Amino acid sequence: MSKVVKFGGSSLASAEQFQKVGNIIRADKDRRYVVPSAPGKRNSKDTKVTDMLYGCYALAEAGKSFDKELKQIKARYEEIISGLGLEAGLLDKEFETIKAQFAAKAGSDYAASRGEYLNGIIMAAYLGFQFLDAAEVIFFDENGEFMAEKTNEVLSARMAEYENVVLPGFYGAKLDGTVKTFSRGGSDITGSILARAVQANIYENWTDVSGVLLADPRIVKNPVGINTITYKELRELAYMGFSVLHEDALFPVRTSGIPINIRNTNRPEDDGTMIVESTCKQPEFTITGIAGKKGFVSINIEKDKMNSEVGFGRKVLQAFEENGINFEHMPSGIDTLSVFVHQPEFEGREQHVLSDLHRLAKPDSIEIDADLALIAVVGRGMKSNRGVAARVLASLAHKNINIKMIDQGSSELNIILGVTNADFEQAIQAIYDIFVSTRL
Ligand code: ASP
Repeated sequence: MSKVVKFGGSSLASAEQFQKVGNIIRADKDRRYVVPSAPGKRNSKDTKVTDMLYGCYALAEAGKSFDKELKQIKARYEEIISGLGLEAGLLDKEFETIKAQFAAKAGSDYAASRGEYLNGIIMAAYLGFQFLDAAEVIFFDENGEFMAEKTNEVLSARMAEYENVVLPGFYGAKLDGTVKTFSRGGSDITGSILARAVQANIYENWTDVSGVLLADPRIVKNPVGINTITYKELRELAYMGFSVLHEDALFPVRTSGIPINIRNTNRPEDDGTMIVESTCKQPEFTITGIAGKKGFVSINIEKDKMNSEVGFGRKVLQAFEENGINFEHMPSGIDTLSVFVHQPEFEGREQHVLSDLHRLAKPDSIEIDADLALIAVVGRGMKSNRGVAARVLASLAHKNINIKMIDQGSSELNIILGVTNADFEQAIQAIYDIFVSTRL
């Protein structure tokens, strides 16, 4: 058995948090592979070390003095080192190198990556594990694209050499050795890559919440947690704004069927949420989750007999494609077709799209509906369960919320609804209530 355990920034923000992490790792000898983030915020007014590093490097790049800022970063690590009773000068040499590299303008990716790199050194010293620099085993091509197969090959071979390893998250290197980071929150991806490389039995992702919640807690007060969710369901919800893991973190484990367990460092006794390929467990509340996003526009196109015009849909989409605009949904009627796009992306190109639509598709009329929100009600429990859509629609009708669009894919995994931005929060609450609060 082996487990990959990734700890987020808030789990490693101070010596006290490190101790909790140490206890978690020591409690289970299968937790052999550790991926740390950089120290995060200790309280809501604090700054993440990654942000401090970006700020400090920006000064270096502008040719300004960055001494004070680098010392503040060093102080964050020294507080952790002394709190853990480790050797005081553990990172002195490292900071000398970093200072020289900053002065030589080594790049902002190099700068940001030092957050996890240094935390990895501390973690390895604290646990007595082997430290492995991610720049040696995680590869990007010259365009900065992650090289999944090469990484997997090299990483699995290197991991076979060690019993216990700390591999810092968030970065790797291009083939010429230049350090390159993933996008923000990318330590989640490193954990997933490592889980695949060692064929772990589970990828535990430790954070500061006890798993994934059924709805956004900023909208629904104290929403219930999700016990088990499939990769596919999570993907649907993530697309609609659910932020649990970095969205690219699913792919490496998904191809090898390794489950992810989201856990809380501050409440290790909680089971958290399991993210799995497939399960026979039915969701407790029929639906698995609700998510949504504001800021969409619907472009409603009408043309008599459009249903019998071969190629009409292609011409419509071509107008969007030529303007570099992604479409999100495209519900259609007999003589009407609507295209949903992101409002900020569309606004600047609006008139170009309209004239291209007229030129290419020759519609009778075009209308635009702005300030719309999309809500996804997601759940594997919908399949072969009658009445789910009826309940969703009834809940909104009772709150006098007008539905602008309904879309249910034939996979029966989700129902997407369009409402106005103004109705968004109330709509989510209404759907939550009908499935969870009243458990209908
Ligand atoms: N430290 C990086 C960030 O703040 C990566 C991570 O924490 O996953 O984005």
